[in-house]
Amino acid sequence: MDESISAYPDQRDFPFLDATSRLSPHLHFGELSVKECWMLIWQQIEQCDPKAKQKIPDAMWAYLRQLVWREFCHYLLFHFPGIDQEPFNKGFEKFEWQDNKHLLKNWQQGQTGYPLVDAGMRQLWHTGWMHNRVRMVCASFLTKHLLIHWMEGARWFWDTLVDADLANNSCGWQWVAGSGADAAPYFRIFNPILQSRKFDASGDYIREWIPELKNLDARHIHAPWEADAGVLKKAGIEIGKTYPHIIIEHAAARQRALDAYTRLRSKQ
Ligand SMILES: Cc1cc2nc3c(=O)[nH]c(=O)nc-3n(C[C@H](O)[C@H](O)[C@H](O)COP(=O)(O)OP(=O)(O)OC[C@H]3O[C@@H](n4cnc5c(N)ncnc54)[C@H](O)[C@@H]3O)c2cc1C
Repeated sequence: MDESISAYPDQRDFPFLDATSRLSPHLHFGELSVKECWMLIWQQIEQCDPKAKQKIPDAMWAYLRQLVWREFCHYLLFHFPGIDQEPFNKGFEKFEWQDNKHLLKNWQQGQTGYPLVDAGMRQLWHTGWMHNRVRMVCASFLTKHLLIHWMEGARWFWDTLVDADLANNSCGWQWVAGSGADAAPYFRIFNPILQSRKFDASGDYIREWIPELKNLDARHIHAPWEADAGVLKKAGIEIGKTYPHIIIEHAAARQRALDAYTRLRSKQ
């Protein structure tokens, strides 16, 4: 850890930047303990001149907070050993999940028609890793847009992630699905197009993982189906042929998820 960590809070959400530590597999397999990691950073915070280098200790605190999330997940798994199998919030037991093997496969293979989701799922398949922001967007897409059970997603991540960790994976999935241990004041639904515009504005992350969209400009790459025929033709894209049609329309999917949530609440 050195001054490069000072960019961590501002850059950690942008998948194209290599701004996170990528320590998760090493922490999972115990090559590095959380205590060791914590103490290394803590010692550096103490050595920093608080006035001259305030940005660095602030960034180190931001990093330590992520380690606390990890510890929280492990605490939950220890005290609630069923969290990989059942909703932490029991109210979710009656949620109307839908079983659809075809859509599940589209999601697993990065063929949903939503570029950020597809880029993340392909990064996972090719490298065994996926950026945290994109994990949230992909998990939200499966559980909210497709209404497929979070355990299907957790199983796929378990099989494909190099940092697959029962505590972090179960917590991450339950947090996104809405059944986790956080007091979610509302039913969170990530908009895959807005998330893409915000966190991959240039489209570079998408271009890296979806070569068939590589010639599309930053304005159209987040929602290629909205581009004019001429723009698509120039970029060598034929929706439905070179890149899939969207498998579900965002606004309709969002409303369907909200309706399912309203019905769930009325059963409680
Ligand atoms: C649906 C979903 C599934 C996930 N599955 C896993 C998993 O199987 N294994 C796993 O290690 N992490 C998982 N995470 C958490 C997080 O995405 C990864 O820990 C992080 O992306 C790893 O990259 P990094 O080491 O560069 O993180 P950094 O940003 O550098 O963070 C440092 C460390 O803090 C811990 N950490 C960071 N974010 C989280 C978080 N949200 N929850 C718990 N611990 C965190 C990790 O141990 C990480 O190595 C999941 C998140 C989601 C949304």
